[in-house]
Amino acid sequence: MNKFVYMFDEGNNKKELLGGKGANLAEMTRIGLPVPFGFTISTEACNTYYDTGKTISTEIELQVLEALNTLEEKTGKRLGDPEKPLLVSVRSGAVHSMPGMMDTVLNLGMNDETVEGMAKLTNNDRFAYDSYRRFIQMFSDVVLHIDGFYFEQLLEEIREGKGYHSDPEMTAEDWKEVINGYKDIVKRHTKRTFPEDPKEQLFLSISAVFDSWNNQRAIVYRRLQKIPGHLGTAVNIQSMVFGNMGNDSGTGVAFTRNPSTGEAKLYGEYLINAQGEDVVAGIRTPQPIATLQDEMPEVYQQFVETCHLLERHYQDMQDIEFTVERGELFILQTRTGKRTAQAAIRIAVELEEELIISKKEAILRVDPDQLNQLLHRRIDEAYVRKQLAKGLPASPGAATGQVVFDADEAERIANDKIKVILVRPETTPDDIHGIVASQATVTSRGGMTSHAAVVARGMGKPCICGCESIKIDLKLKQFKVGDTIVKQGDIITVDGSTGEIMLDEIPMIEPQLSDEFQLLLTWADEERLLGVRANADNPEDAKKAFEFGAGGIGLCRTEHMFMDAHRIPIVQDMILSETYEERKVSLTKLLPMQQEDFEGIFEAMQGQPVTIRLLDPPLHEFLPDKEELLVEVTKLQILDSNSKELNDKEQLLRKVRQLEELNPMLGHRGCRLGMIYPEIYIMQAKAIFYAIAKVIENGVDVKPEIMIPLVGHVNELKEMRQLVINAGMQVKEETGLEFDCLIGTMIEVPRAALTADQIAQEADFFSFGTNDLTQTTFGYSRDDAEGKFLQAYIENKVLPENPFSSLDQEGVGKLVETGVNLGKESNPRLKTGICGEHGGEKNSIQFCQDVGLDYISCSPYRVPLARLAAAQAAIKNEQKQCENELLQI
Ligand code: ADP
Ligand code: MG
Ligand code: MG
Repeated sequence: MNKFVYMFDEGNNKKELLGGKGANLAEMTRIGLPVPFGFTISTEACNTYYDTGKTISTEIELQVLEALNTLEEKTGKRLGDPEKPLLVSVRSGAVHSMPGMMDTVLNLGMNDETVEGMAKLTNNDRFAYDSYRRFIQMFSDVVLHIDGFYFEQLLEEIREGKGYHSDPEMTAEDWKEVINGYKDIVKRHTKRTFPEDPKEQLFLSISAVFDSWNNQRAIVYRRLQKIPGHLGTAVNIQSMVFGNMGNDSGTGVAFTRNPSTGEAKLYGEYLINAQGEDVVAGIRTPQPIATLQDEMPEVYQQFVETCHLLERHYQDMQDIEFTVERGELFILQTRTGKRTAQAAIRIAVELEEELIISKKEAILRVDPDQLNQLLHRRIDEAYVRKQLAKGLPASPGAATGQVVFDADEAERIANDKIKVILVRPETTPDDIHGIVASQATVTSRGGMTSHAAVVARGMGKPCICGCESIKIDLKLKQFKVGDTIVKQGDIITVDGSTGEIMLDEIPMIEPQLSDEFQLLLTWADEERLLGVRANADNPEDAKKAFEFGAGGIGLCRTEHMFMDAHRIPIVQDMILSETYEERKVSLTKLLPMQQEDFEGIFEAMQGQPVTIRLLDPPLHEFLPDKEELLVEVTKLQILDSNSKELNDKEQLLRKVRQLEELNPMLGHRGCRLGMIYPEIYIMQAKAIFYAIAKVIENGVDVKPEIMIPLVGHVNELKEMRQLVINAGMQVKEETGLEFDCLIGTMIEVPRAALTADQIAQEADFFSFGTNDLTQTTFGYSRDDAEGKFLQAYIENKVLPENPFSSLDQEGVGKLVETGVNLGKESNPRLKTGICGEHGGEKNSIQFCQDVGLDYISCSPYRVPLARLAAAQAAIKNEQKQCENELLQI
């Protein structure tokens, strides 16, 4: 026989079987807390219910009746007994807490006979009839699926007819009238009388709770929280206690610590003379828990002690439901409380300080994903927001700027150092430059994985997607929300963490690490095995990274230095040069500019390693758009076919055409540029070496590493390495200074990973560029994939996740692993790391640790997250190892 039903005092507290609520009710009973007695029908029973076509099998029915017997004996009351009626609640409770997502029925067992028994027993007619009408209302909603509206409407009619303002004014006789009306409603809607048989009520309610596992809100919640649908819910049958028996009774909810700040102070509210659902329903405004101390000092004292006990027992902040019946305290539920990132950190650190949990446990308590909330600029919490519109919170952080409706215009205005926010119906890869130039992006269409969202997150810029309430008119350059019109140039503020759009500028605060956060991170640093570096292309980002605890720069992209508005003309001259001599002139101008940037970065990193990657993108990216040029040339030809301007533009167009590639992602980029135009790489290498010489002279320590991008064949690296070495020798000779510099490569095409043993012979380090490696392994171009088919792939479960956000461990990961193993075999001193978005994602970080990388590198704002995630990876591996050793004994 299968066991489906467990009494609270049976000693079983398995969550998978009893659900979170049931397991904790049993556990609280075991440790002697005042919990109304009852039993739990297991999640297995729920699955059996679904397997047998939504029927409660005889086996389960018999076990429920037997448990009911035990409950009746223990309480000395019987279900349906007119003299001493037992009343119960029927409560849902899944393995993962799903607050408010499934249904509960209170006061079950009420009928025309038992209500009189209750009235006599409690000597309180009014209470008994009030409880009865509550039961009919809840049962009709949850079990019979009659809209609550009909009941509320009737209640209001009767109340107002009697000239009352609130429910407490209703007398027992008034409630009787309501009850009769309620029964008529039931009859009208179900074509039968209200079920008065308590056993029938019980089994109908149990089925209804099982059914509620698959109601719409529960399904949506599970999808959002990634909770599997096959787990099922347990059902708890518990004898009722009453908070609505008079002014010596009440009910409430409290967190043992503040869930939004983490402060170690009881946080909650209660209502005198009320039943559980009144607190959440917002019918009456509850009182703060602190005043319970004055109203019921003894109960308050006992409750405070219980909170302490539960927190120590579960070793975490608890969210507790309680009821006071005539001065006696009952605990009805406890669960781990949900909290903000800020609170999670403070609670973890303080629990450690109170010796309740260990440092390692404290590190594991904070979810790295949640830290995003804290690591972006955000709106000052003290400010009261006036929301204009709301979309999907696609990329966190807040920003203020002028509204702009076009990517080119965004770029043009931003060039004058004006902050803009790009507002578009949707974005395409062509809008990238506009997104780069803007403080934030808003789209009226598209979801969380839409192009704008993905790109913005990658750049750490706030983004709101799918904001359908704004009606954009691109022609008039304005958008409308209701009657409000926002024109181009108007200032708005957006909060990418909540999806809110507001008018005007709003005060912001810079992200900073609280004392508790800093402390937690120093604990994390003691545990982690992986080094954590940052991707930073300029001195400001490098400073931020250093502040956030980066142990170096893992990727400094030099092309971003080329993109600077003042440098672009020189860069273009360089590209347009017809001869080597001409090109040298432009390069000579660029060299000191690059050198200055490198000096700034070296100084910011104070002797930590800095990996600088030589130029990577195809050259035409630095030139104007071909279509636009074509239009201009045509116009000039019509006006004056002999002007110098026309001549210049035609030459430019020729060059743009010449450099144009059919497939730039797989084209003339990376070290392939350096192979054909070595003078560019020589200039960059020299700028780096001069910068090294300069900062050494200033007494600053440097650890430079030069990285050659996109190597696919060892011969490419051999040649580029020699070129860098030669440049170094030249600078050493000129300056008379000695310095070291590591030379390595980025592994970002499959061939490099597969021939890593050969490549490692020429490299001091490998850095896995997993963005490009994902593109080249899948054969996807990211912009096309994310804009066109990737979302459908993920929705249809062709791919489990976006491989550009979370590393594809089976495919791309296998190449990383192969690269590390082959590389280290042939060059034991080889250092290995990863750069790109994956370096700041917790699952990918775990993978990096598992395949034995030395460090990870991510955007500066993700460094704290990466430090924490790396520590968690180390602790989890240690725990796994311990378990394995125990198994072997
Ligand atoms: P939810 O998961 O929505 O919180 P619950 O099963 O916890 O649903 O119950 C809803 C409300 O009813 C809560 O306020 C709870 O404290 C109260 N409640 C549940 N069972 C009982 C009971 N046996 N006696 C008194 N109040 C109860
Ligand atoms: Mg509850
Ligand atoms: Mg790359």
